[in-house]
Amino acid sequence: MIGLPRSDAALPVVECRGVTVKFGDFTAIHDINLCVEDKPGHGEFISIIGPSGCGKSTLLNLIAGFQKPTSGEVRVKGEVVRGPGRDRGMIFQEYSSFPHLTVLQNVMFGMKINGRKMGLSGKDREDRARELIQATGLEGHERKYPNQLSGGQRQRVAIARSLAMEPRILLMDEPFSALDEPTRLEMQHLVIKLWKRVQPTILCITHSVTEAVYLGEHVWIFTQAPGQIAYDIRESIPPNDDLPPLDAQERPQFKEAVRVVTEAFLRIGESKPGGSAK
Ligand code: ADP
Ligand code: MG
Repeated sequence: MIGLPRSDAALPVVECRGVTVKFGDFTAIHDINLCVEDKPGHGEFISIIGPSGCGKSTLLNLIAGFQKPTSGEVRVKGEVVRGPGRDRGMIFQEYSSFPHLTVLQNVMFGMKINGRKMGLSGKDREDRARELIQATGLEGHERKYPNQLSGGQRQRVAIARSLAMEPRILLMDEPFSALDEPTRLEMQHLVIKLWKRVQPTILCITHSVTEAVYLGEHVWIFTQAPGQIAYDIRESIPPNDDLPPLDAQERPQFKEAVRVVTEAFLRIGESKPGGSAK
């Protein structure tokens, strides 16, 4: 069990109980039990790493409600997940904006669909969209279409579009893998700043240990398929402190954390799930 709930705690943000997913005879994830505590006024940032094909995307898809478990239960704030909802935003590696809508229209899209439920007037929606466009560094690009933007700018649109819905949970599946290194570093810092401002719980898959340690307050490491979470590394991970990635990476504590995570990652090839590295 990853992250045991305290008995007096509020309902967990995410909870998986005995979750198994099979595709035909193939077991993608097996008996996952985890609990992500609710931390109002903070959120939580969890990085997820693991070998390719071990079920990381499957876990995020279950939480997003895009997929159902073969057995077991996935709950979000105590409710069994039955499908997607606006309390959960998802950002993929491939840019998922609407090609026929401008930046402003893309950021406003979800709010327009859910406008009544969210209690937002047309002006409220536009104000919120413009504020997020500014916060994600897209000012001046409001009228452009996705194909007129760089890869990094398109991911900014995806982030702004997701945050406009004020999701309780933001799920990110290798969001920066397609970006060049300088853009990737810029986006990592941007996501930290937005996370601290908006305070959602973030689950972010990455294949970079450095990125996992920079972004996450803790790092989950998956085993090979059938996937389970072998490690939840917390104590070794330094606080983010709003430092830009390159500065954070210079600190001895950061380097030590990268070493601890890398060693645990290397060990999972040999070990059985259920260990606990500190
Ligand atoms: P990861 O994101 O860790 O690379 P995934 O969660 O995407 O892994 O997939 C886990 C395993 O399940 C992989 O072996 C993949 O091929 C398989 N898989 C994922 N989705 C499907 C599907 N719809 N049908 C059949 N097999 C699938
Ligand atoms: Mg994946």
